[in-house]
Amino acid sequence: MGAITKTSVPCVVVGGGPAGMMLGLLLARSGVEVAVLEKYPDFLRDFRGDTVHASTLALLDELGLGERFAALPQRRLSTLTMRFDDGEFHQDFSRLPGRHGHIAMVPQWDFLDLLAGAAEESPCFHLARDAEVTDLIREGETVRGVRYTDRDTGREHTLRAAVVVATDGRHSTVRDRLGLRPKDWGAAHDVLYMRVPRELGDPGHTVLRFSASGGLILIDRGHYWQTALLIGKGRAEAARADDGASVRAVVTRLAPHLADRMAAIGAKDIAVLQVRIDRLPRWWVPGALLIGDAAHAMSPIAGVGVNLAIQDAVAAARHLTPALRRGHVTDRDLGRVQRRRWLPTVLTQAAQRAAQRRFVADSLGGAEAPAAPLRMPAPLRVLRHWKGFTRLAGRAVAIGLRPEHLSGALAPLDRTRPHMRG
Ligand SMILES: Cc1cc2nc3c(=O)[nH]c(=O)nc-3n(C[C@H](O)[C@H](O)[C@H](O)COP(=O)(O)OP(=O)(O)OC[C@H]3O[C@@H](n4cnc5c(N)ncnc54)[C@H](O)[C@@H]3O)c2cc1C
Repeated sequence: MGAITKTSVPCVVVGGGPAGMMLGLLLARSGVEVAVLEKYPDFLRDFRGDTVHASTLALLDELGLGERFAALPQRRLSTLTMRFDDGEFHQDFSRLPGRHGHIAMVPQWDFLDLLAGAAEESPCFHLARDAEVTDLIREGETVRGVRYTDRDTGREHTLRAAVVVATDGRHSTVRDRLGLRPKDWGAAHDVLYMRVPRELGDPGHTVLRFSASGGLILIDRGHYWQTALLIGKGRAEAARADDGASVRAVVTRLAPHLADRMAAIGAKDIAVLQVRIDRLPRWWVPGALLIGDAAHAMSPIAGVGVNLAIQDAVAAARHLTPALRRGHVTDRDLGRVQRRRWLPTVLTQAAQRAAQRRFVADSLGGAEAPAAPLRMPAPLRVLRHWKGFTRLAGRAVAIGLRPEHLSGALAPLDRTRPHMRG
């Protein structure tokens, strides 16, 4: 299960998250043989971003996967409410350009399964699950492939490639093995995640609550609330140490309707997710490219990391496909991907850091009673009744900056045969 039979392919993708699966799908559909190595046996992790943004929905349409996606169980957000102590700000997604006036909330495992299923229709696509990349094969300064362990059997394998693309997330092994150090902006918070049963009569939609007592995100997953409590950096373990009593107190204060159900939540039900905001100055070395969180870890603020990772994958596929069809990937090809995605990444991270300074850092209160109410940032307070602004805010989140589309370079050559073999 955790190994592929080949010893060489044109492209190895390390990590089967949103960036890796989208890149694998696009390359395979373009007739380029690609192997995606994912260290876990399935995509069934509870705590991944669940948001599929309008620009990703448009891409799925372009890929002919729109109907399959629409058939997945999902909730559609046409507005997103940020509730402060002194009022609410609504981001309006209902008037976005294009067909999709919403963000879809889909468990990420369903989304990744859909991408994997579509990619596996191509003979150019290979997915090894339970395959953990541990090191790189190098000749001089150039990366020539990867070493990986089949976690099922414990056996070690090597896989050579014309290019290795690291999509292995914010704790990237490839980045570590290359000795690359991202610039770290030090997120102020981590996140405690728990499932809280949902009952008939609960308020019906996803809410972001920012208060001096704490920051709370409730994601409606049908029969339960995926509940995320923001917590100051380094305080997560202490918050769990009292078997979750302080966590229960804060969540109950912020969402009183959950009080009875929170009583059953203990430390074992609470997972800690570390938040980072960082970015590599250079996203490539000869023979290897890093994209998605491996190149620029995104904070959960505004829930845009998945979309950004997918847009990176489209740009990477666009620039790598012609090179892989030629049989040789140059430094210039790799540099083009970074140039294309640099500005949207820098601006999006700058917005996340501003939000962190302006209100997230003030909503990490803890169990004690709040000193003063947390007020909505002044620009939002002033502009919140102007529909043009709420739509613009919605567009910035749901579509993002510089959305990517499929183009000529990604057109399939011949879906039935690999264009180039390793
Ligand atoms: C608490 C939290 C909540 C978030 N919520 C949201 C949200 O709601 N919406 C949103 O858009 N973004 C959210 N984000 C950000 C989002 O999760 C990331 O930006 C996004 O997942 C990046 O996608 P990726 O494909 O680059 O990496 P990842 O999603 O991290 O995927 C990396 C993949 O690589 C695999 N892998 C890792 N190491 C190896 C290895 N050595 N060998 C093989 N495989 C490996 C992993 O198992 C994983 O499948 C959140 C982030 C945090 C921390």
